[in-house]
Amino acid sequence: MANQHKPKINVPRPLRLYLIEKSKSYLVSDTILSLISGTTHFSWNWKSPPSSPSVLQSLSQLSSILQPFRFSPGFDRWVWLRCNSRQFSTGSIRRSLEQSWADFSFKHQWSGWVPRKVDIFVWKAALNDIPVKTELLKCGISLPFSSCSWCSATNETTNHTLFVCTIAHKTWDLVALWTRHHISSPASIDQAYSQASILGPANNRSKMLMAIVAATVWELWKSRNMKEFEGRNTHPERIMEDIKSETFLWLTARAKVLDLEWNDWKRDPLYWL
Ligand SMILES: [Zn+2]
Repeated sequence: MANQHKPKINVPRPLRLYLIEKSKSYLVSDTILSLISGTTHFSWNWKSPPSSPSVLQSLSQLSSILQPFRFSPGFDRWVWLRCNSRQFSTGSIRRSLEQSWADFSFKHQWSGWVPRKVDIFVWKAALNDIPVKTELLKCGISLPFSSCSWCSATNETTNHTLFVCTIAHKTWDLVALWTRHHISSPASIDQAYSQASILGPANNRSKMLMAIVAATVWELWKSRNMKEFEGRNTHPERIMEDIKSETFLWLTARAKVLDLEWNDWKRDPLYWL
């Protein structure tokens, strides 16, 4: 009979203590032996005393994790640490979120003149929350390359794809020409919306320019995906044509106050003002 070797299983470190624990259903409170002057003493219940270096190291790590905690007699309970009363409420989580967002200056202007899916995409892009390669890598998703789908010269980031890469930069130059420089080479979505909404978000010209900003971001992203997933190239002039036709369709369908003509629109979006 051939010599059969037991397969060697590499047990993850956190599990090594669990394997020698006698009772797998123990709670933390079951292991507390005594609370003396704020110091907690634990009573471990091992099947056999920890002896191997790896198990002793795990035990040392566990002790250092538990050391700063102060236990008190009584039942376990949930505590909401984000307000003084320690009671959870929806108001407290709203205040907590507002506080954590206080430093973020960008306030997205939601527009009824832009399809909701596009508006949401632009909002997420402003939050740096679209699936560019650098962000996917941060999430632990493995990719063969992290470089820009268009130029391959640098890592693909949100800002590079939508503003810095040559194809994006040239597209924004064309947008500047078309809008008579009311939108002029922005470096970010925040800056593009600031230029567009200079007359206030309720003003029709601002709403129209904001729709053009949203369409530009949207069409650049679609073009990036076309290159990334289908290997198809495009150029700024073609993207610009798509921005013009897309915004014309959006505004004729959604901005009832406007009476747009396609030939006038593609020549000058401000002609009706
Ligand atoms: Zn690039």
